[in-house]
Amino acid sequence: MKKILVTGGAGYIGSACSEYLLDLGYDVTVYDAFITGHRDAVDPRAKLVEGNLADKALITSVCRKGEFDAVMHFAAFSLVGESMKNPAKYFDNNLANAINLADAAVEGGVKTFVFSSTAATFGQPEKVPISEDDRQVPINPNGESKLCFEKVLEWYSRIYGMKYVALRYFNAAGATEFHGEDHRPESHLIPIILETVRGKREKLMLFGDDYDTPDGSCIRDYIHILDLAQAHELALSAPESGHYNLGTGNGLSVFEIIRAAEEVTGKKVNFEIAPRRPGDPARLIACSDRARKVLNWKPKYESASSIIESAWKWQLKFPEGYAR
Ligand code: UDP
Repeated sequence: MKKILVTGGAGYIGSACSEYLLDLGYDVTVYDAFITGHRDAVDPRAKLVEGNLADKALITSVCRKGEFDAVMHFAAFSLVGESMKNPAKYFDNNLANAINLADAAVEGGVKTFVFSSTAATFGQPEKVPISEDDRQVPINPNGESKLCFEKVLEWYSRIYGMKYVALRYFNAAGATEFHGEDHRPESHLIPIILETVRGKREKLMLFGDDYDTPDGSCIRDYIHILDLAQAHELALSAPESGHYNLGTGNGLSVFEIIRAAEEVTGKKVNFEIAPRRPGDPARLIACSDRARKVLNWKPKYESASSIIESAWKWQLKFPEGYAR
């Protein structure tokens, strides 16, 4: 049974990934500071260490004692707009604190480091679908801090021999039976649409219908969190260090997501066209051939409706999100 340290296991993707690993029989320890995560999102089967990665002594001692086979690092901030207002917050946590973790992992003899990276490392893509080796020119500190840490891991793998796998998520979406999206405030499209349908919110502000896309709204590649979790587990046996883009390869516009949500819920989505959101590229679509070939990754949620349906079930089950 492999022992895995999951940082950010109280967050949206970290909690779903913990659930997935525990279902497969892994021994999971969650490390989380509960800044954006929720206590009730920590899988009850996991061990829990409450701590911040800024606390180098704590994370080092956890890694020294834990005998972990792998670290999965989800703990990070991820809001583009916030990163443009407060870059230090992003470089501190997503880079400096992550280096504390990487050092602790090396000290603890961890063999494999799986890192939650992001499509935001590519900035405005030169083409879609985006391949792993396309140019990475981030356009905000969120993407830049993640790219910097990818590079740190590359050097650590060369110098210390710790294998790393950087997984660049496109638009994480959907829910498991127990774990779903509960950001406060919520800023992501699908939960906002579903909150609008439930009457928790008056309307969706649709950020821009004048992009150079067929219907004028932005196109994204929505990928279910359990498919991301599957990729993390497969990454544990990746043959060598590397980077993988994770998306379905299907680009969907905001209008298409609205229509799919209307089909799933049987209700109309009230929306209003609003100005573009700064920093939003028109199209982000992943080419995930490498993950499919090398990791043998097979995403199961290929359609928008299956992803939205899972998020809808979760919102109906947890109308106020997590209690704590
Ligand atoms: N979006 C929108 N209204 C919202 C939130 C998002 O129109 O209230 C759009 C956003 O401009 C983007 C897409 O939905 O094109 C997905 O945004 P989200 O914040 O979910 O993810 P991101 O692409 O920023 O990672």
